[in-house]
Amino acid sequence: RNAGLGSWPARRAAMSPGATALIFQGRRTTYAELFERTSRLAAALRTAGVRPGDRVAYLGPNHPSFAETMFATWMLGAVFVPLNFRLTPPEIDYQLRHSGAVALISAAPVEISVTIHVLIDDLEAFAGEEGRVDEPETGLDDVALILYTSGTTGHPKGAMLTHGNLVWNCYNLLVCVDVASDEVTLVSAPLFHVAALNQCLLPTFLKGGTSVIMPGWDVDGCFDAIAEHRITWMFGVSQMFAGLARSPRWPTADLTSVRSLMTGGAPVPEALIRAYQERGLAFCQGYGMTETAPGATFLEARESRAHIGSAGLPVFFAEVRVTRPDLTPADPGEPGEVLVRGPNVTPGYWNDPAATAAALTDGWFRSGDLAVVDEAGHLRIVDRTKDMYISGGENVYPAEVEAAIFEHPAVAEAAVVGVPDDRWGEVGRAFVVPVPGASLSPADVPEFLSGRLARYKIPVYVDVVEDLPRTGSNKVRKGPLRNLPLPGPA
Ligand code: ATP
Ligand code: MG
Repeated sequence: RNAGLGSWPARRAAMSPGATALIFQGRRTTYAELFERTSRLAAALRTAGVRPGDRVAYLGPNHPSFAETMFATWMLGAVFVPLNFRLTPPEIDYQLRHSGAVALISAAPVEISVTIHVLIDDLEAFAGEEGRVDEPETGLDDVALILYTSGTTGHPKGAMLTHGNLVWNCYNLLVCVDVASDEVTLVSAPLFHVAALNQCLLPTFLKGGTSVIMPGWDVDGCFDAIAEHRITWMFGVSQMFAGLARSPRWPTADLTSVRSLMTGGAPVPEALIRAYQERGLAFCQGYGMTETAPGATFLEARESRAHIGSAGLPVFFAEVRVTRPDLTPADPGEPGEVLVRGPNVTPGYWNDPAATAAALTDGWFRSGDLAVVDEAGHLRIVDRTKDMYISGGENVYPAEVEAAIFEHPAVAEAAVVGVPDDRWGEVGRAFVVPVPGASLSPADVPEFLSGRLARYKIPVYVDVVEDLPRTGSNKVRKGPLRNLPLPGPA
């Protein structure tokens, strides 16, 4: 008992009271202050009626109160439910009801009635003058988080993550990235998503480093924060890193403080990896998902030159298999589904036994992703099983086509889906976003791809668009693209 993360603020306050835990818009919070603030909030939530096992939801952009509410919730042995503030009111309503939240801390008022509702601006007053709760009585098997998945392939699912899942994920990360006690981590991705929370904030906290919290993503704010706080590492999805590399500030920005970068969550274009390598910066690449807390494989930064495009090796404390549909192991080079088993894997989806039964078999979590393993055991993520399509009897992996389109200098973003076709069964349809100011016509795309990709992989339809539909964690949602009416062929 008492091994849960609710004990972390007290432990950190004892070990490094004066160290800066958080920086937000110029305001610094030490570990001692964070413990004190978190304790007051926990006491107030307890008085308001929060009991062990209750769900406490949080809805708002990145802010220190996210961390305070989370640790306060854990101090009470309750379950933290961070919600995506970019969702529509009915979607938020659904997640609040589905999680059965008794309390909600939010940046703005919501329409649904929750027993305890506190606005972030009122949190200071709500937390009161002083307060103390007893040591948390949480064990590693108790649920710490209900984290809704990105909703890339359908409705977000409420993955339960235990305190043990979070601890083991931290260990897996610390094995692969040398997170240090003097780390200054830029938290620029949204904290309601597994990557910013579990790959940045929690490991930095565990080591006693500093998290610099940005309220939201913006390229200039990121350059400013790196310069002002001497950021040592950051996580981002490739779209963020691409935005930095395209900025006029990129050639002259002082990035000397940055020791490592981490990316993952979606395929990383090779051109981007090379652009950063030219600046002497290597990415640690991660593959994972909400349900594995999230790290499943890592490619360490020092390996990134030798294995461009690879998602690396299984994390230290988990097993990863690539299997055929009958769950027998795929041969090296043969695409198969990724399965993960280990102490970082979710016990299941909250209140959804059917989804849990479909995803977990004998402790193995079925990712729904296709990968190939090379001779050295490295995984290369091919695509999602659901996104693959078959054209003239040949499997096409949109991620490969997207990577090829992305090599075109006028292309900023690309997404490919399979659409029905009388002759071939399915053919590709590409949606491309031009680089600002560049000119790009639909016909440029097949012309560029011819000779680079086999004919059957070249999209028949091309739409030049201003932006792509994305999830709150910035992933392209392919469902809406698949359903758009077809134009004439390019
Ligand atoms: P949902 O499950 O609701 O459809 P989601 O799967 O996008 O949404 P997340 O848990 O945020 O929700 O994302 C995990 C997925 O992201 C993985 O299953 C995989 O498809 C993709 N992914 C993660 N890392 C990588 C990577 N390095 N390369 C390619 N794809 C990745
Ligand atoms: Mg998923």
